[in-house]
Amino acid sequence: MTTARDALERLREGNRRFAAGVRSLDTLTSQTRRSEFLAGQKPFAVILGCSDSRVPVELIFDQGLGDLFVIRVAGNIVAASQIGSVEFAAAQFATPLVVVLGHTRCGAVQATLDELRRPSENQSRNLRSIVDRIRPAVEGLLETGPNRDHEALARRAVRANVRVSANFLRHGSPILEELIQSDKLLVVGAEYALETGRVEFFDGLPAFI
Ligand SMILES: [Zn+2]
Repeated sequence: MTTARDALERLREGNRRFAAGVRSLDTLTSQTRRSEFLAGQKPFAVILGCSDSRVPVELIFDQGLGDLFVIRVAGNIVAASQIGSVEFAAAQFATPLVVVLGHTRCGAVQATLDELRRPSENQSRNLRSIVDRIRPAVEGLLETGPNRDHEALARRAVRANVRVSANFLRHGSPILEELIQSDKLLVVGAEYALETGRVEFFDGLPAFI
């Protein structure tokens, strides 16, 4: 059985390959093994990432068919349907690891910062629902953070938003909470840097990892 530790190591190794510009043979050949997955899937990690076209999850972790259960939504926010998707994967496939993956220069986080600085009047209700999910994570930063350094603020906001999403997953579902308490599930937060191609895991790592 795959453990959270093994799963994390596979992701780290895959991301090291991606950042170095190489791909594993397993990834390259996984599409030729399509028929192996007809009977079912056994993804080793769930990734909740942003929809940003520069952060395609399977590519940046160098993984192939059947490896990752991916949920993508602008700003990697957590609403009921994202929690439901994680519950589904954890219950159906006994997936041991969930990664909330934010990224540098996130447009959704930036839009939230812009909105807090200068509220717009005619933002669509649907877009607003995303901004409103990010807002609680970042508004405190505007009060205390280095306001003049917009780039530093944006970086802190991305990480704050990842932490909030990860905590929502840890505490927003009795099913997930029980799995976490019995050490069957680990929820961690990470950030992908567009600048380097590297993923840094920075939230929720237990001491043994
Ligand atoms: Zn984004």
